[in-house]
Amino acid sequence: MKEFSKHRTSNVQRQMSNGIKCTTVCLLLFSIIFMSCTKNESTYKESRVLMDTYCTITVVASSSDKAAESINAGFAEIEKLDGLLNFFSDESEVAAINKASKDSPARVSSETLEMLEMALNISKATSGAFDPTVAPLMGLWKFPKNRTDHDIPSDISVNNARALVDFRKIVINSETFEVYLDMKGMKIDLGGIAKGYAADKAVDALRKNGIKAALVAVAGDIRGYGFSKIGKSWKVGIQNPRPMYESDKPWEEVMATLNLEDKAISTSGDYQRYFIKEGKRYHHIIDPETGYPAETDLISASVIAPEGYISDGVSTAVFVLGVENGMKLLESMKVMGVEGVLVDREKRVIVTEGLKGKLEILNDSYRP
Ligand code: AMP
Ligand code: MG
Repeated sequence: MKEFSKHRTSNVQRQMSNGIKCTTVCLLLFSIIFMSCTKNESTYKESRVLMDTYCTITVVASSSDKAAESINAGFAEIEKLDGLLNFFSDESEVAAINKASKDSPARVSSETLEMLEMALNISKATSGAFDPTVAPLMGLWKFPKNRTDHDIPSDISVNNARALVDFRKIVINSETFEVYLDMKGMKIDLGGIAKGYAADKAVDALRKNGIKAALVAVAGDIRGYGFSKIGKSWKVGIQNPRPMYESDKPWEEVMATLNLEDKAISTSGDYQRYFIKEGKRYHHIIDPETGYPAETDLISASVIAPEGYISDGVSTAVFVLGVENGMKLLESMKVMGVEGVLVDREKRVIVTEGLKGKLEILNDSYRP
């Protein structure tokens, strides 16, 4: 296995005997859960480049063979979705949908159909702030790796491409698995939701393989379940949106941490793909209403949700909406277990009610 590392649980015996001494029912229950998570188990971790980014799977398993087998199954799911949903590959089902028409719809797999239905649900729930039909605008803006010396498209070309954006015109027949886009020139790009969905599918594969605790990170889209090696929930970091240094692994510079309990977290920001022209930052999250990079008061929006496709889609939408409307959206989704951490241009950190006191800010330039 590539970059395979193992960390043995060290104080299992001591903690087990502590648990046995507990007298109350509550503590006894706790110690049973605790023992089942730690006895003879170790943490195994592997990273691969998939979906054009770094993916890392961490599992708690009873042997390196069990870990390798399940990690392979998790990566296989991510690789399969990469093949189906990659906007840039001519072979993908997304490419087939983008070429299809009413007379000649694309026939897609159950995974792609499910992904599309989920994406449409997020579009409806966010009143179109998340809209996977922004693809023609992405094609226009391009956002190359080179962050300077980039042309800004004309207002006319932006308006023409914006006229092709409307998630309501994605036509899905869930019985025949046929899909087409009901406007000539329309295209979909699932880049704002597919990574979170891939993390969900990898978690399903790990669970099927008998893994009781794992953390799957597809770039900034992370899903965890169960307890880490010493019976604690997984600690995850939120990337510093204004890093001190340029790095090829910018996610390693962390702004804040929190514990993730059987949930997913995704972060959207203006620092992932962008260019600067005449002092103005043009970033890759498009406001579907204007066709321009969202003029938001946010620099980063992290969303915590029960599933990765929700955290991923909603974080993109919250970034478009900005602090006030983004917080309103998060508040309306509270009943579904959705929470958020927003960072505004003044580096103020705003959290939803359910996260108060649960975020540890590590970088002094950010304040609550
Ligand atoms: P994320 O990093 O999850 O916020 O996703 C950003 C990516 O989603 C971009 O690179 C585009 O491919 C796509 N995207 C940009 N703007 C939107 C939008 N308003 N709704 C849905 N997808 C978008
Ligand atoms: Mg997203």
